Amino acid sequence: MDWDSFAEWGEKAARWTQDYHQTVKDKPVRAQTEPGDILNALPELPPEQAQPIEDIFQDFEQIVMPGITHWQHPRFFAYFNANTSPPSVLAEFLTSAIAAQCMLWQTSPAATEMETRMMEWLRHALDLPTGFAGVIQDSASSATLAAVLTMREKALSWQGNQQGLFAQKPLRVYCSAEVHTSIDRAIWVAGIGQQNLVRVLTKGDWRGMDPVALEQAIQSDLDSGLHPAGVILSVGGTSVGGTDPVEECLKVAAKYGLYTHVDAAWAGSAMICPEYRHYWQGVERADSIVFNPHKWLGVQFDCCAHFLKNPEDLVQTLAISPEFLKTHGKDGIINYSEWSVPLGRRFRALKLWFVIRAYGLEGLRTRLRNHVNWSVDLHDRLATEPDFEITTKPMWSLWTFRYAPDGAVDLDDLNLRLVNAINDDGRIYLTQTRVDGNLTIRFQAGQFETTEDDVRVAYDVITEIARSLT
Ligand SMILES: *Cc1c(COP(=O)(O)O)cnc(C)c1O
Repeated sequence: MDWDSFAEWGEKAARWTQDYHQTVKDKPVRAQTEPGDILNALPELPPEQAQPIEDIFQDFEQIVMPGITHWQHPRFFAYFNANTSPPSVLAEFLTSAIAAQCMLWQTSPAATEMETRMMEWLRHALDLPTGFAGVIQDSASSATLAAVLTMREKALSWQGNQQGLFAQKPLRVYCSAEVHTSIDRAIWVAGIGQQNLVRVLTKGDWRGMDPVALEQAIQSDLDSGLHPAGVILSVGGTSVGGTDPVEECLKVAAKYGLYTHVDAAWAGSAMICPEYRHYWQGVERADSIVFNPHKWLGVQFDCCAHFLKNPEDLVQTLAISPEFLKTHGKDGIINYSEWSVPLGRRFRALKLWFVIRAYGLEGLRTRLRNHVNWSVDLHDRLATEPDFEITTKPMWSLWTFRYAPDGAVDLDDLNLRLVNAINDDGRIYLTQTRVDGNLTIRFQAGQFETTEDDVRVAYDVITEIARSLT
C-alpha cells in the first residue's frame, strides 16, 4: 500500500467507522468468543510477501471484530466507560497522519503550546485556581507514579534518585482502602514498598478516609521513627466511588508538610458541572490532581490530565536534560517530557481541542448530567423491588446492588451467576466488585451515546434474568 491509494481506503475506513457506531447497539456488548478463538484464526508466521489491503481489511472485519467487546456500545455499564466521539476520532486520525513525537517544544511547538492551552481550558472547566499548571500524561497510572516519585524525592530532599533508598528510613504514604490499584503499583515501583502504604480507616456513605484516623496514623509513625512522605486521596474510587473528605484530609497533610495527590481519574470529568464540586471541596489545597478525559469527556484513550501546584517539584524529580535534548535560544519554553516518566509523547491535546470545541462545555455537561440522572432513576426503581438490595448508594452515576430473594442461601454465588448470565445475554454489560467482603454488582452509566431508554433496558434485563435464576 502507498499514499496513492490512501484516500480511497481512508474513505472506506471513515464509512466503516460511521456504520460501526450507528449499528453497534444491535451487537452483544461483551465479546462472546472463547479463549484462543482469535489467536487460532491468525497465521502462526508473518507473510514474506506483501498482501493486498483488501484482504487485510476483510480479515479485520471477519477475525478481529467478533473478538471485540464494544466499549462504545450505549449499554456498556461495566467498569468505567472509555469514550470516544466523532470529533475525537477525527482528531486522532489527523494526529496519526502527522505522527509527531512531541517530547520537546522544538519537536513540535504546536503540540506543546496546544497542550498548555488545553490544560488551561480544563483547569477553567473544573474551576481550579490559576496557580495550577497541567500536563497530559498517557494514563492516570503514570500520573500517579510521577506524583509518588515527587512525593518521595521531596521527602528525601531530592536524594532518592541519587543515592537509592537503601540508606533511608522507611517512607510512609497514607490512603484509604478505596484507592485504585494504580496507587499500590506506584508505591511498589517507587521503591517505597507495599508495607509502607498505610490504609487509613474509612467511614460514612462516601467510604472516605477518617481525617482523625489519618492524623493518628501519621503521628504514630513519627513516634516510631518512620518518615511520613505523602497522602493520596480518592475522589470516585473504582469499586464503589469511594471519596475522601478532601479538605479535612489535605489540612492534616499540610500540618505535617506532606505532599498530596488526588486520584479523581473517573469522577474528575464530572467536576465540569458546578453541582458535583462539593464532592472534592478544598481540592485546591492539593499538590497534584489527576483525572482522565479519556473516561468521561469523550476523548479516547489515551488522555490523562495531570494538574500540579508546583510543577518545578515534578521536573526536579524527573528531568534529566542531557545536552542533546536541550533546546537552545528559546526562553520560557516547556519540554513536557521532563514532566513524565516516558520520554516520547504523542500529540494528545489535539483531540481535546476538537472535542471541547465541537460540543462546548455545556454540551459535555448535559451528557454527564443525563448519565447521573438516568443512573439514579434506575437505582430508585430497583430499590423498590423487594428481592433486590442496594449495597452502595449512587456516587455520581455509580452504585451497586445484589439480588437477594427470600430464602436464597449463597448470595455471592447467586450474584456471580447473575452477572455472568447478564453478560452472556449480551444486551447490557455489567461487572462485579466486593463490598464489605460480599460479591455485589456495579452499575454505572457514562457512554456518550447512551439514552434514557438504554438505561431502562438495563432494568428489564436485570430483573428478568435475576428472576429466571431461582
Ligand atoms: C481508571 C482509574 C485509574 C486508572 O486509570 P488509567 O488511566 O487506566 O491508568 C486510576 N484511578 C481511578 C479511580 C480510576 O477509575
